[in-house]
Amino acid sequence: MRTTVGIIGAGPAGLLLARLLHNAGIDSVVLESRDRAYVEQRQRAGILEQGTVDVLRAAGAGERMDREGLRHDGIELRYDRKRHRVDFPALTGGRSVTVYAQTEVCKDLIALQLKEGGPLLFEAEALAVEGADTDSPRIRFRHEGREDVLDCDYVVGCDGSWGVARKAIPSELVRVFERTYPFGWLGILADVPPSHDELVYARHDRGFALLSMRSPSVSRLYLQVPEGTDAAEWGDEEIWDELERRFETDDDWTLERGPITQKSVTPMRSYVHEPMRHGRLFLAGDAAHIVPPTGAKGLNLAVGDVVTFAGALTYQKETGSAELLDAYSETCLRRVWQAERFSYDMTTLLHRAPDATPFEDRLQIARLERLASSEAAETDLAEGYTGFPFG
Ligand SMILES: Cc1cc2nc3c(=O)[nH]c(=O)nc-3n(C[C@H](O)[C@H](O)[C@H](O)COP(=O)(O)OP(=O)(O)OC[C@H]3O[C@@H](n4cnc5c(N)ncnc54)[C@H](O)[C@@H]3O)c2cc1C
Repeated sequence: MRTTVGIIGAGPAGLLLARLLHNAGIDSVVLESRDRAYVEQRQRAGILEQGTVDVLRAAGAGERMDREGLRHDGIELRYDRKRHRVDFPALTGGRSVTVYAQTEVCKDLIALQLKEGGPLLFEAEALAVEGADTDSPRIRFRHEGREDVLDCDYVVGCDGSWGVARKAIPSELVRVFERTYPFGWLGILADVPPSHDELVYARHDRGFALLSMRSPSVSRLYLQVPEGTDAAEWGDEEIWDELERRFETDDDWTLERGPITQKSVTPMRSYVHEPMRHGRLFLAGDAAHIVPPTGAKGLNLAVGDVVTFAGALTYQKETGSAELLDAYSETCLRRVWQAERFSYDMTTLLHRAPDATPFEDRLQIARLERLASSEAAETDLAEGYTGFPFG
């Protein structure tokens, strides 16, 4: 097999890249190790920045998102039983975010790819990338019990945090920046309408809690739990009781309960792999960087990377200049580090570390009070939340 761009992974990064390249008249092949049902049902992110929404729409993948996605113009911060709303459009010149689950983004892009795009092979596991620093890199992969080779002009590793692509970059050229947090998120999906029409981020002495949603009838809620917690340790009523405590307010706000349909724990990690390019191998999305989910940046960063790559390759096709491809890693990393900073700030603002001192508790409250009383501080949060520019 031969193609211009070999894409490893059919998460949001790989699927959107295939779509953008198709629209630019550049052929690609996507190899995905899991089956279609697994990729379409994997519960993960749910907040799309304004820029991500614009890109999906421009790529012709926004029809259902525009119909079913929920535009959100703000979030609520909750601390010390108080409530403070951050108004995004007022602070950012009209920007907002959209609640539309990653599962739905993937379903839309898969349907488009199978209908209009190039090959998308499920249960095709990339084993290695070879010749990354030559003019003809190759992906060795296994599909339907057979080993095969995909010859490419470029390879893009969109294979997530445990993928194989980045292993093709010689270790002496790589720098990894990493931080793990001593807590994780216990996330639930519940068949109950959200108790608030915008996301609620709560800082509480017992730990962080987040109220989010997937649709007008499905709530997504999270509790900060100690690192290594097993979701099975938590009974359903115990989860609702704890959520209720952490969202407590002085007014008559109440948390509606409903049947829990899914429960899982997500570890919290910050990770950046530099560089994001070696020869003709490019890394995009979680293959190159991880952020803790507090800032809702993971999926949006993946989108930024593939928009940058597709733009750079199109530019090269049109002008013959590899200037933008050569700048890919630096261009992406500028945005990645802003998202890392933002996600770290949100995480340390709202979570209670197991060894937090009373001094640190007071500092968190002071930071929240500052956000609630200073337009400059609030604007910084609103700009970060609605997204840093692509490219
Ligand atoms: C459990 C979990 C919960 C999350 N929750 C949130 C959240 O609430 N908010 C948020 O903003 N972000 C969240 N994220 C992060 C967000 O979902 C990711 O940033 C996003 O999925 C990145 O997309 P991607 O395409 O780069 O990687 P992925 O979505 O991980 O896709 C990578 C794909 O590559 C495939 N693959 C891997 N290895 C190979 C191989 N060798 N050959 C072929 N295919 C391969 C995988 O099967 C997968 O389909 C979460 C992540 C996880 C893991």
